[in-house]
Amino acid sequence: MNRIKLSNGEDLPLEMHKVKIVQKLELKPVEKRLEAIKEAGNNTFLLRNRDVFLDMLTDSGTNAMSDLQQAAMLTADDCYAGGESFFRLEAELKKVFNKKFFLPAHQGRACEHLLSRVMVKKGNIVPMNYHFTTTKAHIRLQGGDILEIPADEAFNTSSDALFKGNIDISKLKKAFKQHKGKIPFVRLEAGTNLIGGQPVSLQNIKEIHALCKQNNVPFVFDASLLQDNLFFMKTQEDSCKDKSILEICNEVADNVDIIYFSARKFGCARGGGICLNDEKLFSEIRQLVPLFEGFLTYGGMSDKEIEAIAVGIRESMDIDMISQGPQFIKFMTEELKKAGVPVVTPPGGLGCHLDAKAFLSHIDPENFQAGSLASAFYIISGVRGMERGTIAEERNKDGSECIAKIELLRLALPRRVFTMSQIKFTIDRIIWLHKNRDLIDGLEWEEEPEILRFFLGRLKPVNDWQERLVEKFKQDFDL
Ligand SMILES: *Cc1c(COP(=O)(O)O)cnc(C)c1O
Repeated sequence: MNRIKLSNGEDLPLEMHKVKIVQKLELKPVEKRLEAIKEAGNNTFLLRNRDVFLDMLTDSGTNAMSDLQQAAMLTADDCYAGGESFFRLEAELKKVFNKKFFLPAHQGRACEHLLSRVMVKKGNIVPMNYHFTTTKAHIRLQGGDILEIPADEAFNTSSDALFKGNIDISKLKKAFKQHKGKIPFVRLEAGTNLIGGQPVSLQNIKEIHALCKQNNVPFVFDASLLQDNLFFMKTQEDSCKDKSILEICNEVADNVDIIYFSARKFGCARGGGICLNDEKLFSEIRQLVPLFEGFLTYGGMSDKEIEAIAVGIRESMDIDMISQGPQFIKFMTEELKKAGVPVVTPPGGLGCHLDAKAFLSHIDPENFQAGSLASAFYIISGVRGMERGTIAEERNKDGSECIAKIELLRLALPRRVFTMSQIKFTIDRIIWLHKNRDLIDGLEWEEEPEILRFFLGRLKPVNDWQERLVEKFKQDFDL
């Protein structure tokens, strides 16, 4: 872990890795970017990557791999059944999570599919700190519903609470009483994605564990963003200060019953899996793996990726490795805050989150503040972020828009991918856009899919604001 003081007193996060392979990037002219976002229906998911300069859409499957991960890929024991690669990953997972059984799946949402299919029945309620898009969809698909019970502070975008991802224990107690017999499991997400990559504390995990045990309900832990969360436990939680990352990780795992993860994030490769001790549940889910994922020793992953995940998970127990993301995010968030840009604080993992409700308070939420900001920011910078707000919600049962509690433009920083000058460029363009925010207006639906509409939906601007924004940009930068 390195945060170096420069001689002028400035605090600088320093990369503890070097670049060995690079990919050329192109920054297309602003007119081309305007054209590209129009073709993409103002949905950054629908942009072609060749039109993107810095891809901050997500950290899913886009983290940089290490030399040792790449080397391990060459040792893959490629085969359909019984390959050694699987057993190497299983052994690695045993070290960090110490559960009896491991079931592989092709990515995080596949784990959610398998768990929901087996555990969630019609009318069930799943209490959780906060939903992730695919989690909620899979639970609903089974006829269940979710109950979000974070502390109220989770929705305060400008806070200094250190563990905003925590479940509110008194709300959980109430939920156990109110929904007795209807709770198939309690779910806690590390590095709570949709509220700004906010961590959960080990203390909270222990308290949830005790309550689950008392109520005889399994405790499911989504470890997709565990890497950043471990960093925050180590650096911000007193009881973790003198423990190694591996020791903290073991303690987390000992206090939950079922762990699933996306190895597109945790493990810095592509894949996923479920770890558990419950033999009955294991055999039930196991039957479904060959049907939906692939045979039990690959689960939809290539053996090469399995090798890369095994090494990636081992490397995630190294504080130098896991601190890069949170430190860069902290730098970016603090610089933006200094410039008066509304950002989610405290800075979490995953990425830097702009508070679009405050940034674009002049836009009606029904015209999608975060979506409009994502579109505007791509046009003036070539940087692709992701809307995490009302567009990512589903409509209410009566057909009205479900206005999100928080509207965020997420600028994900895939781990070890971007350089400091790229971060500084991004900060500069955000500050410019914030000064010119009055030029931004809203979006409206052009094409709205029924399921997970944010992936494929198309929107159009409510007037010609995008052209006016481009004009101002060209003026200011002498283009
Ligand atoms: C990304 C993510 C998932 C889904 O993982 P995929 O591999 O992208 O399917 C699930 N939960 C959380 C918290 C995530 O961040």
